[in-house]
Amino acid sequence: MSRDFAVSPSPTVELAIDGSSSVFPVHRIYCVGRNYADHVREMGSDPRSEPPIFFSKPADALVPSGTDVRYPPRTQNLHHEIELVVALGRGGRDVPAAVAPALVFGYAVGNDLTRRDLQAAAKKAGQPWDVAKGFDASAPVSRLRRVEETGQLSQGRIWLEVNGVLRQQADIADMIWSVPEIIAELSAYFELRPGDLIFTGTPAGVGALLPGDRVRGGVDGVGTLEHGVVAP
Ligand code: MN
Repeated sequence: MSRDFAVSPSPTVELAIDGSSSVFPVHRIYCVGRNYADHVREMGSDPRSEPPIFFSKPADALVPSGTDVRYPPRTQNLHHEIELVVALGRGGRDVPAAVAPALVFGYAVGNDLTRRDLQAAAKKAGQPWDVAKGFDASAPVSRLRRVEETGQLSQGRIWLEVNGVLRQQADIADMIWSVPEIIAELSAYFELRPGDLIFTGTPAGVGALLPGDRVRGGVDGVGTLEHGVVAP
């Protein structure tokens, strides 16, 4: 007997898994701000002065690799932020960093699209970041790669190019907070669930995207993310 929903329920957000016919059902998308020292400096802060900043995007902001993103409304300054994304296969609360690797299902590559002008205005006014970070189609993500294939990641090149020109390049070894530390800290604020994705922060080199741009980015050993930006 089917449930009598008053309006059509939204479909489960899914992420493809490399080398598998099963799909990863996305629960929440968490994000870490300011996690590479060079990017913290380019944004005008001291890397060691503060604990990680967490924010989130709606799960249905996810866009699979290969799908174009429409230039969003209400911004004149859409920015790219290439990031390692961690996918959780198990959840928990107050997870110690030493146990955190056991929660990892796999890794992907994400672009934390940001309306930089709205974020700057929100920071200045002490307001929340939702409209700057959590807008529709703000989370392009590559296919997932299982941790059995990647191993636990603590180093590897992360890069992004726009129209074939390199914009961001770093090593995930340069993250201020490691993946286990991020999971531990996040789980002190939220009960983590299987299906959660965590964007782990971007290195320096963030910059503007325009309609017509082609974005490619990757993390060594994980995969490649590709998408275009198209006119609104
Ligand atoms: Mn980011």
